[in-house]
Amino acid sequence: MTNKTKAKKIINLLEEKYPDAVCGLEANKDPYKLLVMAVLSAQTTDKIVNKVAKTLFMRFPTPESIAYSEQGELEQEIRTIGLFNSKAKNLRLACKRLVEVYGGILPSDMKELLTFAGVGRKVANLIRGDIFSLGGIVADTHCIRICGKLGFVGGVNPVVVERTMDALIPKEKQSDFCHRIVLFGRELCNAKKPKCEECFLKELCEYNKSNKTTGC
Ligand code: SF4
Repeated sequence: MTNKTKAKKIINLLEEKYPDAVCGLEANKDPYKLLVMAVLSAQTTDKIVNKVAKTLFMRFPTPESIAYSEQGELEQEIRTIGLFNSKAKNLRLACKRLVEVYGGILPSDMKELLTFAGVGRKVANLIRGDIFSLGGIVADTHCIRICGKLGFVGGVNPVVVERTMDALIPKEKQSDFCHRIVLFGRELCNAKKPKCEECFLKELCEYNKSNKTTGC
């Protein structure tokens, strides 16, 4: 079976299992909120970001409100999130750029998105997919781990994972695929102890096959 055929089967099975491919960050497709929440989500969980976002956006409802916030004001609001000082600095810079260079309208171009503080390819792909429907593989920890176990990629380099999966998954399916992979990673293929016996992808999984061969 080619990797493309295998990817197609996996996409179908994921669609059946998780019909609602919702983003873990509850930004409701609002570009400003998604930008802020995605920057905050680095090295922390969506759950923590969603909790903080509830009060954060009441106090900072617009890009201007973050861009011109007093030093310490934003930090105080996001202090329960890891690396909050550097994230606050990035958010102030990113929102300032959004307001002053783009008139508050987030661009869709990858190169332009990468000029925003705190935005790397992972966040840029998330924004391009969820806000602009342009697709994009969000090579986060779940995506890297699971695409490796399934046998699509050999390493953990996010750019390699992104490029490899980009070639295997149709653009219009990429965002939902990534959201579903996160749900799948939380439920079955978790990092510490994947539940291979009950996994609906086990017949297609290289990790599972090699464990069977070695009798693990
Ligand atoms: S069989 Fe195991 S390792 Fe493979 S995808 Fe399923 S849970 Fe993950």
